Amino acid sequence: MHTVCIIGSGPAGVSAALELDRLGIDYLLVDRHTFPRPKPCGGVLPWRVLELIELPGEVVESPLRGYRIYSRRSRAESTFPSPGASVSRVKFDAYLASLPENPPERLRVRGVREGEEKVTITDGRRVIEAEYLIGADGANSTVRRCMGVEYGRFASACQYLIEVPEVKERIGEWFEVYYLFTRGYGWLVPLRGAVRAGVGGLGFGRRQLEEFLSLTPVAEKLEGGRVVGYEAHRIPMQGPAGRLASRRMVLCGDAGGFVYPGTGEGIYYALLSGGAAARAVAAALEGEELARASRREFASLEHLRQVDFLEGVLGSEERIERYLRRLSKLGGSF
Ligand SMILES: Cc1cc2nc3c(=O)[nH]c(=O)nc-3n(C[C@H](O)[C@H](O)[C@H](O)COP(=O)(O)OP(=O)(O)OC[C@H]3O[C@@H](n4cnc5c(N)ncnc54)[C@H](O)[C@@H]3O)c2cc1C
Repeated sequence: MHTVCIIGSGPAGVSAALELDRLGIDYLLVDRHTFPRPKPCGGVLPWRVLELIELPGEVVESPLRGYRIYSRRSRAESTFPSPGASVSRVKFDAYLASLPENPPERLRVRGVREGEEKVTITDGRRVIEAEYLIGADGANSTVRRCMGVEYGRFASACQYLIEVPEVKERIGEWFEVYYLFTRGYGWLVPLRGAVRAGVGGLGFGRRQLEEFLSLTPVAEKLEGGRVVGYEAHRIPMQGPAGRLASRRMVLCGDAGGFVYPGTGEGIYYALLSGGAAARAVAAALEGEELARASRREFASLEHLRQVDFLEGVLGSEERIERYLRRLSKLGGSF
């Protein structure tokens, strides 16, 4: 019987584990994969992630100075207050998984059941019991399904890994975001000797990705490149779920819907919400109701729920241009 079981050892699960280490609370961290493992992701870490996690040089693909955002008629640039980084999630997540005092154990959770006194977790053969459970098992969360929490809207995202000569000359150290479609967007992320080129949006797939790559500003930057990888996954787009905790279980990261819909940025919010979930469980162990403690701990992430970006900002070409004009007026850093 463990005090806490954390399902999923991505950024959210690791952040929860590190917080429980700090609080001196016993836990079991599990993941269905052993690390290193792949995770479809742009791997863009704005400066604020590097304020939370110090990264060894070998994990960094390229430093990032900020965003460059393009629409059909405008362009806006935002410089980070201090450098960010692009990373490969294979290396980044393996590094994260090495940080907690209890490294992840391999277990593919197939079901969880909540009782009065404990939560029972199973992979179909083995059974684990814990007083509390933290669901950090990503966008296809089994925990969330077992809690009966409704899924909101998802964007589908896919990307190519493209070996490109002269990445620095073509893209520099910028995360390039392209609002060239309605209800979705494209991106280019500079890496060492390669670029991640992807699209995400409602019902987006390989067709939109190919279309994105054929558009003039993008095609020019990738000229002479060679596709060496493809991956796809979904991104929660409706902000945190309406119900994030039950009596003994709490959701964080993608499992809870903690993603900023404007950019699909989820790593920072996974780190914040993982720590918050751990603190909520700590409060529950002291006698507070878990749902109440979670509401307090997640309060600073409420703003993620307010943004209906795909429709409200990217819903039409006029809206996109209005948004870009507003951003360029802000200038510098936004
Ligand atoms: C194409 C794409 C591009 C993106 N680009 C960016 C970006 O550039 N920057 C950014 O900040 N965010 C980006 N995101 C979002 C970001 O990837 C996620 O928000 C972030 O990874 C969420 O972290 P997490 O820990 O909640 O979940 P995950 O990173 O998905 O980790 C969940 C973990 O749970 C494990 N797991 C799942 N099911 C089970 C199970 N049943 N039993 C046990 N373990 C299980 C998985 O193996 C995994 O290790 C992107 C997403 C996509 C799809």
